[in-house]
Amino acid sequence: MTRQVLCIPCAENRQKLHKTPNPYPGEHIKMLKGSATRAFLCDDCGKEIHPSVECVTYTLYTARDAVHTGSLPYWPWEAEYISGAARMKWPAGSTNAPAV
Ligand SMILES: [Zn+2]
Repeated sequence: MTRQVLCIPCAENRQKLHKTPNPYPGEHIKMLKGSATRAFLCDDCGKEIHPSVECVTYTLYTARDAVHTGSLPYWPWEAEYISGAARMKWPAGSTNAPAV
């Protein structure tokens, strides 16, 4: 499982790159937008993300467990980093977002 905190421009670029939240067989992406709970550096560009500023958590994970794939399954981790989380819309720019 890959976990990152991204600034908004980097999150939008990442979403355009992947096109869907299921870009590869067996892999899934979860992106939540919310307010930073404290100061972070964007894991992509290194820009400062100040407390309470809008940012995105990015998770790339597999549905299967570590025994089968060698990687970790998804578990919720975002609440430590953002508050008021809402799932980002897919595809980028879409107005129909599924519920969190
Ligand atoms: Zn960034």
